[in-house]
Amino acid sequence: MLIIQAFLTISHKMLNDPNEVNFVTWHYLSALGFGVFIVIFALKLGCPHCGARQVFRGWSIFDIRWPENDCHGCKKSLD
Ligand SMILES: [Zn+2]
Repeated sequence: MLIIQAFLTISHKMLNDPNEVNFVTWHYLSALGFGVFIVIFALKLGCPHCGARQVFRGWSIFDIRWPENDCHGCKKSLD
């Protein structure tokens, strides 16, 4: 999904034509909205077995970790 967001951001910059302001605005908002969705999705993502958060494990920003196939808490599969 991050690849899709990167594509939206890049294509938004390529399509930065003042003659198509409405389209660019729509495109920008869609990319922005998708980014917000990704953040909310990451915040809510947790282990179905023990409930441990997979991306934001603690309150420090340095605890951010991309989820893997297994839970970092109980080691069970996240599927
Ligand atoms: Zn778990």
